[in-house]
Formats: sequence, structure tokens, C-alpha cells
Amino acid sequence: MLSDFHIHTSFSGDSETPPRDQAEAALRLSMSEICITDHHDYGTREMSPIDFTLNFSSYFPAMRALQAEYAGRLRINIGVEIGLMLREKEYLEALEKELEVDYLIGSSHFIDAIDVYDRTFYSGRSEKAAYRRYFESTLERVRLMDCFDSLGHLDFPIRYGPTKNKNYLPEDYMEVIDEILRVLIRRGKALECNTAGFKYGLGQPNPHEKILKRYRELDGELLTVGSDAHKAAEVGGSFNRTAELLKRCGFSYYTVYHARKPEFVKIE
Ligand SMILES: [Zn+2]
Ligand SMILES: [Zn+2]
Repeated sequence: MLSDFHIHTSFSGDSETPPRDQAEAALRLSMSEICITDHHDYGTREMSPIDFTLNFSSYFPAMRALQAEYAGRLRINIGVEIGLMLREKEYLEALEKELEVDYLIGSSHFIDAIDVYDRTFYSGRSEKAAYRRYFESTLERVRLMDCFDSLGHLDFPIRYGPTKNKNYLPEDYMEVIDEILRVLIRRGKALECNTAGFKYGLGQPNPHEKILKRYRELDGELLTVGSDAHKAAEVGGSFNRTAELLKRCGFSYYTVYHARKPEFVKIE
């Protein structure tokens, strides 16, 4: 079983699952390690009814206690899913240097001060234009921001668009996507394969298999895997079919992070 490097707990504004429940779920699946990556979308309090700001002073002690409790049975890594926003660049880059974590996911959740989850992100323009805006904004962010290890769930607006992925073709945006992948590779960043797309009924992870394949063709090697579980039943979601999919895309290894350093693990 692949190690799940994208797990939320009740420290995230949108999850009520106690951290211990997530660890127990991973143990039941015989995972050797996991990384808990609770949300920190700093500067979005006015943009969302949910507070996605992480309380570090309670988060870290709780995570360290959990690590100790499971030592020898399950390696628990500590991470954060950082919401990338250019307006917070200075703050996020200072924070990144300060945080003693194993792994940082950088995700684009808010675009032009709107949550991509929100219907208004898709109103007043075509779905394709909304998706394009997402990719373009993400490109700008990965070009200018350095405060993360892996780019989270690229192409995830297709979970929320009016027709979801019914009319979605990665090819329609490939020149922007290609540039995102090239920037990641050049800068030594990983791409995340986020399996929550399956749970949303999309029949694909985020990003799409074609994008994962393209990343590999471009010589992209650093690839992390996460379920984006907000509930215990979602830990390791669709990991078996994802392992097959990744092999099909040309990957023999995926990547885990310890103290912000990548390590390759063979995909069994
Ligand atoms: Zn996310
Ligand atoms: Zn997440």
C-alpha cells in the first residue's frame, strides 16, 4: 500500500476527524507511514465562511504527541497544506523557513479572492474559461513562490465546475499545464497525484492521467500520492488502482518527504 501523504484532521476547518482516527485507518490498511497535512490558507478569512487558518500552537504539540504514541507501529510525518496566494507571498515564505515539518503541499484553493469550490467562480464565464483561469493563476504562483514541496491536486476545479469533468480535456490547456510541469521540474518540486478525484466520481485522480504521463515524459520524477482524506474511511482511497495508473504512466517510484527531503519508494 502506498503511503498517504495528504490527510486532514479536525485541525482543518473542513474536517471533524480526530487525528487518531486517521492514524488508526492507516494502520488498518498496513501503511508504514502517513503525513498529516492540515489546511493553512492564510489571508482567506474574508473569502470563505470556513476558517482555513491553522492554529500552529495547538497543531504541533498534538502532532508530536501522536507521533510518539504510534512510534514503532506507524511513522507519522507532520505536514501542512499551504494555500498559495501571491498577495501572501512574503508571509508564506517567512513561514516556510520557520516551520519544522516533514512536508509542505502548495495548493491553489482561492483564485481572485474566490474559493474554487464556490459556484461564483464559474459564473459569468464559460466553464473552460474558469478552468483556464485556474491553470494560469497556478502557473503564476508556482513561478513566483517557493514555499512548498509538492503542488497539490492540479486540475481540481473539475470537481466543482458546472459539468465537472464531462467536457474537460487536459489538451485544451496543455500549453499552460506544460509550463507548470516544467517549472516544477526545474525547481525541484514534486507533483501530487491526489486520489480524491475518484471519490468525487470523476473516474480520475487530480491531475488527469494525461498530465501525469506528460510530467513523466518531461522527466518529472518527484511524485507524491495523497487521498485528501477528511474522514477515516477516505484514508488510502483508490490507492490500488492509482498504483496501477502510475505504473501505466511510466512511474516506478513515488516520493515521500522526511524533514523536507524527498525519498523515493518503489511502487509495488
Ligand atoms: Zn487542497
Ligand atoms: Zn487537502
